[in-house]
Amino acid sequence: MISVKNIIKKYGSKEVLKNLSVDFPDGKTTVILGPSGSGKSTLLRSLDLLVRPESGTLSFGDLKLDYAQPVSKKLSFDVRKKTSMVFQNWNLFPNLTVLQNITTAPETVLGKSKEETEAKAKKLLSQVGLAEYADRYPSQLSGGQQQRISICRALAMDPEYILLDEPTSALDPELENQVLLILEDLSKMGQAMIIVTHNMEFARSVADKIVFVEDGDILFDGTPDQFFNHSTTRIKDFLSGIT
Ligand code: ADP
Ligand code: MG
Repeated sequence: MISVKNIIKKYGSKEVLKNLSVDFPDGKTTVILGPSGSGKSTLLRSLDLLVRPESGTLSFGDLKLDYAQPVSKKLSFDVRKKTSMVFQNWNLFPNLTVLQNITTAPETVLGKSKEETEAKAKKLLSQVGLAEYADRYPSQLSGGQQQRISICRALAMDPEYILLDEPTSALDPELENQVLLILEDLSKMGQAMIIVTHNMEFARSVADKIVFVEDGDILFDGTPDQFFNHSTTRIKDFLSGIT
């Protein structure tokens, strides 16, 4: 399980995470919802140390980190290895082929052999229906295809958790669906994921747990059924589009 406790993150004098605590269970899909600017990306990025809160703690099973203390290179590496991030705009390397985009981090960061990483990359590409695109370049692919490749790239690192920050917000609806179906499959297979999304239908179908963030704190933490069917007035307003 990932557990963050009492995290405070400031930008200048503005507190964007306000003593926030939350758990993300193993092998489950947690969906983070909330209005724009509420701190969702900051929270997600705190988990893989792209953002460094001023205080609070992070634990991944036995690994424990105090954000207020200096972190050794080894601990930072071990923590970052637990997660892989998928970005809204996929951020593939334009000068590398699809296959190289997937194999480069496992080779350079984890020291795996080319044979092993290529075999795994090809397997992942066929799982997302893109086996025949291995030697193309990202610019030759649609946004939906590029996002599926960026999911393969994340999976190639064998992370415990995949972190996805609005993975389909930049896609047209028909391309969005291809990506959502893959995420639903991964969720069913027990791949732990933490997904920030504005797609309520998807959230309802994929989530094992919903976390609602507002103004830097957690306003709801529970099941999709509680969230969508039995929640507070504030959440009903959010769901009806009155953000
Ligand atoms: P969300 O992902 O929910 O839209 P963010 O986590 O991106 O929210 O942002 C939370 C708040 O922190 C917002 O008010 C945003 O403007 C501010 N913020 C985010 N990143 C930075 C930054 N690098 N510098 C200054 N302010 C930031
Ligand atoms: Mg965001």
